[in-house]
Amino acid sequence: MSKKILVVGGGISGLSAACALKNRGFEVLLLEAKPRLGGVINTVSENGFRAESGSNSVMVHSQKTLDFIKSLGLESRVENSSAVSKKRFFAKNGRICEVPMSPLKMLFSRLFSFAGKLRMLGDLRKPPHPSDADPSVADFTRYRLGEEALDYGMNPFMAGIYGGNPEKLSARHAFPPFWNLEQKYGSIIKGAGKARKEKAAAGNFFKPVMISFKDGLNELVDALAKKLSQNAVCSARIASIDYESGGWRVCWTTDSSEDCDVFDEMVLAVPAKDLKSLPLPFTLSKMFEPLDSIEYAPVISYTMGFKRSDISHKLDGFGALIPEKESKFRILGALFVSSVFGGRAPDGGATITCYVGGMRRPELFNYSDGQIRKIVLEDLRGLVGLRGEPVFERIFRWKNAIPQYNVGYGEKLEAIAEIEKEFPTVKLLGAYRGGVGVSNCIENAAAIAEKMNP
Ligand SMILES: Cc1cc2nc3c(=O)[nH]c(=O)nc-3n(C[C@H](O)[C@H](O)[C@H](O)COP(=O)(O)OP(=O)(O)OC[C@H]3O[C@@H](n4cnc5c(N)ncnc54)[C@H](O)[C@@H]3O)c2cc1C
Repeated sequence: MSKKILVVGGGISGLSAACALKNRGFEVLLLEAKPRLGGVINTVSENGFRAESGSNSVMVHSQKTLDFIKSLGLESRVENSSAVSKKRFFAKNGRICEVPMSPLKMLFSRLFSFAGKLRMLGDLRKPPHPSDADPSVADFTRYRLGEEALDYGMNPFMAGIYGGNPEKLSARHAFPPFWNLEQKYGSIIKGAGKARKEKAAAGNFFKPVMISFKDGLNELVDALAKKLSQNAVCSARIASIDYESGGWRVCWTTDSSEDCDVFDEMVLAVPAKDLKSLPLPFTLSKMFEPLDSIEYAPVISYTMGFKRSDISHKLDGFGALIPEKESKFRILGALFVSSVFGGRAPDGGATITCYVGGMRRPELFNYSDGQIRKIVLEDLRGLVGLRGEPVFERIFRWKNAIPQYNVGYGEKLEAIAEIEKEFPTVKLLGAYRGGVGVSNCIENAAAIAEKMNP
């Protein structure tokens, strides 16, 4: 008889885990507290405009993730990001400025001063940090590449990924690519070239691709939900979880039913902040305490649709991130949604999503929709030369949007390892572990499913 697994949480992490487990022959039940599956992912369309509530795209790093998407029958629905979206912008001195993506463009870029560029080369001769160090992203960048690289590079970049504060984020945990290059090769610049060559020599030619789906990310959620149609319960309130004779006896209610069942193992795929709300045995819930202090950035996602002719900028890129120093602007960044993927705006229209708040300005989360709207419109007027009013609007608020891998995060990983050692039939999954991106969540779910013994 196959093992019975309970998955708690129906965001992309829980959905992917439940589906991967089902594919491996486990008997699976997924319980989701909300009336719909998908967690922070949801797509809304109206009059040809399309808004994503959370993630707008998936950066795929491995063939395995593409294969998983294929296994859901979504191959023909995948939409690759446009060529133009390789171009990125930051704000500099109140104006939009292209980010140099090649050494040659870097040489001529006005994003950094000549002295700032020279200072970045200091990376070539700075000794690496001790292997047990845990510097912040800000201290790490200052040390290796200088203050300008922090202010007009890492600062907006961390706002883009984490809505995060580089003074608090841990270099080794929040941005492992740079940390690993330093640790392995002694320098980011030297290491980047060497790592590329080693990857090719090892026969790894997979180039990361940014994708979505023709009708938005909901297609991914819908396909997973369809696979799990007999295995998922929404609006589920878990009443009790008890350890009983080698299994987990779980009772839950919905508006119309009450159920109990016994499971061999549990995958808890809820945000770290929600773990404490689960009615778990005292010894287990006590072990979750260190995870409760993982900070989450509050983020407001405001999508607006405009007449294309109302915007003077070409919108020929992925979007624009705002360095904290650029105090004229209050948004964290603007994503040029309809330039990245087709079908996001009607002919003659343009869709832009702005992100507001984050760890940089958490207080803005408490502003009214009207106040946020005013901020977004003012910033877009300065950033991309917006003249008119939006013809489409959607606002989404996420109080606990993105977990922060702050300095000291290693202790959280130790706590997780300890929980899974003490309770081998409990697995923890979610954006607070192994990366915040949608592809990280899918890959981590697959890894957990692969490790479980039928
Ligand atoms: C505004 C925003 C923009 C983003 N942009 C991008 C992007 O462009 N690219 C990218 O890769 N990533 C992006 N992300 C990150 C990514 O979308 C998330 O990290 C990822 O979707 C998290 O998935 P999850 O399943 O771990 O968590 P969630 O989506 O939070 O799902 C957790 C689920 O658990 C449920 N739950 C909680 N408690 C219980 C309980 N007691 N019982 C049952 N269920 C429970 C919740 O209701 C929820 O459905 C973005 C995130 C946000 C918020």
